[in-house]
Amino acid sequence: MKAFDPQANMAASRHQFGEHGGVNMSIEASTTFTVMQADKMPAIFQGRYGPDQGGCYLYGRHFNPTVYALGHQLAAMEGSEAGYCTASGLGAISAVLMQLCEVGSQVVSSDTIYGGTHALLKEFLPKRMGIQTQFVDVRDLAAVEAAMSRDTRVLYIESMANPTLKVADIPALADIAHRYGAQLVVDNTFTPMMLSPIQLGADVVVHSLTKFINGASDIVAGAICGSTEFITSLMDLHDGAVMLLGPTMDPKQAFEVNLRLPHLGLRMREHSTRAAVFAERLEELGAEVIYPGLSSHSDHELAKQLFHSDYGFGGLLAIDMGSTERAFAFMDDLQNAEHFGYMAVSLGYFDTLMSCSAASTSSELDEDDLRRAGIAPGLVRMSLGVTGTLEQRWEQLQRAYESAVGQA
Ligand code: PLP
Repeated sequence: MKAFDPQANMAASRHQFGEHGGVNMSIEASTTFTVMQADKMPAIFQGRYGPDQGGCYLYGRHFNPTVYALGHQLAAMEGSEAGYCTASGLGAISAVLMQLCEVGSQVVSSDTIYGGTHALLKEFLPKRMGIQTQFVDVRDLAAVEAAMSRDTRVLYIESMANPTLKVADIPALADIAHRYGAQLVVDNTFTPMMLSPIQLGADVVVHSLTKFINGASDIVAGAICGSTEFITSLMDLHDGAVMLLGPTMDPKQAFEVNLRLPHLGLRMREHSTRAAVFAERLEELGAEVIYPGLSSHSDHELAKQLFHSDYGFGGLLAIDMGSTERAFAFMDDLQNAEHFGYMAVSLGYFDTLMSCSAASTSSELDEDDLRRAGIAPGLVRMSLGVTGTLEQRWEQLQRAYESAVGQA
């Protein structure tokens, strides 16, 4: 059997032409859709006569054709049956958790996840919805197994943990989740194209499209990929978390994101190339570098096994500068003297973005949580850009590193 390739699968899926045969799809900006026969209205409302059953679209907060077309593309990328999009990554994550859980349900989650998701699981869901989360190191399969119970509905992980870049053993975690009747939900934001969680046994993939998939830091958006049954359930008129909580994606945004998918593979390869070269060279200079492409990374072998070989090991690396002060001096220099990149949260931009995780994107975690997750105070996370030349960027990075550690 031929190995699954996200890029090939996307290219093989049906192209959505524009209304007048345009090479780009049209934007369906209407918020409501005309029913041609009055007696079809009840079936449309009961969800039995939608566009996939030969019927019609209903209303903009329900399925929209342009957003649906983007959902199909993302489903092709992930190799899932279906996909749909939301207004943000957290909109996708919260809708999925609320759809799969009810009052009294339990979530078992990786302890090293994006701070906003951590806050949702640790603070918001228990207080507001009675959904409890147990956080574990998901690289410790025995600890995961010990945390599971008959109330566990979701095992929640990030494909590559933020910001420690630990790689999740998706096949093993899927096996544990399924043995307890739970679903494995994977946030694949850090590794689009590089890794296909659903092909490895996951049930649902969520994305913040705001990052690599968008690539220009100008759109906040999210996506959910999974079975047709699950995506349809999110839109149920009586019980669907996307339909009823309303994290709807605007069709104009869907059109914009759709235009960036064809070059996602090229971009991911270049982000990975830069990150790999810089990680190797920094390590040679004696830096404490975290990068899954390095043989010194604890999950290097697992990453080699799970990732598609064409897209490298990703565009993110982290450097432990030893202290917050040194991390701040390093970033100040990189931005204001070297013009290497920008001190800004987020990732997947065409230029380099960098932040000190403990003081920014992971600041929702308290000191104990940070220690448990292995996030040192001086850890600088970098999302490597693709602008400038590789050697020009390396010279800037090397100078700033050597100056920060006093080697210059
Ligand atoms: N998942 C990960 C891994 C993230 O890094 C982020 C944001 O930084 C999110 C989800 C949330 O995405 P959004 O900002 O699009 O809501």
